[in-house]
Amino acid sequence: PPPGAPDIAIARAATPWPISEVAARLGIEPDQLRPYGHDKAKLSHDFTDALVGRPQGKLVLVTAITPTPAGEGKTTTSVGLGDGLSRLGHKAAVCLREPSLGPCFGMKGGAAGGGRSQVIPMEDINLHFTGDFHAVTSAHNLLAALIDNHLHWGNALDIDPRRISWKRVMDINDRSLRHLTIGLGGPAHGVPREAGFDITAASEIMAILCLSADLADLQRRLGEIIVARRRNGSPVRARDLEAEGAMAVLLKEALAPNLVQTLEHTPAFIHGGPFANIAHGCNSLMATRSALALADIVVTEAGFGADLGAEKFFNIKCRQAGLTPSAVVVVATLRALKQHGGVERDALGQPDPEAVRRGARNLSRHVANLRNFGVPVLVAVNHFAQDDDQEHHALQAACDELGVERVVSRHWAEGSRGSEALAERVAAMVAAPAPRMSLTYEDAASLEDKVRAVAQRLYGAADINLEAKARRQLAEYEALGYGHLPICIAKTQYSFAADPALSGLAEGHVLPVREAELAAGAGFVVVICGDIMRMPGMPRQPASYGIRLDPSGEIEGLS
Ligand code: ADP
Ligand code: MG
Repeated sequence: PPPGAPDIAIARAATPWPISEVAARLGIEPDQLRPYGHDKAKLSHDFTDALVGRPQGKLVLVTAITPTPAGEGKTTTSVGLGDGLSRLGHKAAVCLREPSLGPCFGMKGGAAGGGRSQVIPMEDINLHFTGDFHAVTSAHNLLAALIDNHLHWGNALDIDPRRISWKRVMDINDRSLRHLTIGLGGPAHGVPREAGFDITAASEIMAILCLSADLADLQRRLGEIIVARRRNGSPVRARDLEAEGAMAVLLKEALAPNLVQTLEHTPAFIHGGPFANIAHGCNSLMATRSALALADIVVTEAGFGADLGAEKFFNIKCRQAGLTPSAVVVVATLRALKQHGGVERDALGQPDPEAVRRGARNLSRHVANLRNFGVPVLVAVNHFAQDDDQEHHALQAACDELGVERVVSRHWAEGSRGSEALAERVAAMVAAPAPRMSLTYEDAASLEDKVRAVAQRLYGAADINLEAKARRQLAEYEALGYGHLPICIAKTQYSFAADPALSGLAEGHVLPVREAELAAGAGFVVVICGDIMRMPGMPRQPASYGIRLDPSGEIEGLS
């Protein structure tokens, strides 16, 4: 395909290796794989169990500055870096999240990378893949159905129908399902009550799938889910409804990590898909741990900007799983820095080094935040064809002032040839002795203080404003014995503040905390800040408008 060809054309022109050959690069035998066609496979549960306790490779986290709606290239950079490391002769693997149909058909498009840095088969990965999202959706909605069935058959647990917190989920952006009344039509049709849908990527089941260490842990966590309150106020758990067994059965295959390949045949584990704004934003622990047992260097992406994905990667995933990354790569683009520097979207084509300098304040906040976790930081500038040299110089000067190393990477246009420099630097960083990681708050801090710590130390907020409902909920969770859990903040990805209009430089703001949700199975407390919705809507011109089958039956327009 010519330079600038659509992602799907580049992906389709590639010749994938049989998945067993990709697996062989990591020393995986064919009988340890459960193939899904020729170019996808899951690892068998026996095999992932046998990997526990093996020496672990080095982990590299890829995160980003505050993004624009298009995304700044974390997935693309993760893939490019993985291929660059392979090119240098390292045994490398990439760990990514599974795309959701919400962004695919809504605003952002697919999530399999782009240009010469993609994972394949991109159509499968972006659509139904190995069915994990469907399994999560089914398990989630099974539990919802069991709750309403319990009400219908006499409500022996004395569930308060007004205090059922377990919603339903679906993997499509559909704002009209946020608030519903169900059970209408008379006594034969269930008990009327208010209900609603979230997107599958925000489901607690998705988080459980991503944080479970094995099948036993999965089933135990499913039982811990709190779905409602009784009339006396005590919590009702999934195990009270005898739901966890059947849910675990639905999720058994889904818990096994998926293996695919990059365009250059680097092994890529794509498993689990929580968003980083409304959920914890990291691929599965099963995939990360398996990859670390099989590869020398593992590159993993956490969603959106470092205020969201990276914060949760450290404070939730690393805390729960005992992982420590050896290096963090922060992806920046000139286009996003200019936007943070005040340039309007339609003027982004004009060179404006001064705007890059102003916008670099966003980068510098993220770099300072990441340094506070105690892990070495590198800036990867994702190169675009239309980039201006003066702007690159301005960014170099800003990075020099920060004392942070910067590498321009051309993986999107050139594949591993363009990411060699980045890979060399990252390989050198991970060869250094393991860093001492430091998290933002202690388990023992109150839930309110945990929110305040993230708001003040990472978001640059002056303080938080706990609305009455949120205050009551956090107090209740502490009374129930869940005060030790980490928090998972749901917030816009477009600003350090809860208001997307405040752009990437917000400072001294007050973080409004609207409400909270206890995710006792996942092991965190979701804290909802501002207008963020856990069921997104589609824009006026959804991405789905451009997607179709051509006359020969091939997919067009997926990117
Ligand atoms: P993120 O993971 O940070 O959301 P992605 O890697 O998915 O970002 O990239 C977002 C979109 O931008 C993709 O469609 C990708 O093809 C495109 N893109 C990324 N890097 C470049 C680049 N250097 N030049 C042109 N397009 C790019
Ligand atoms: Mg991504």
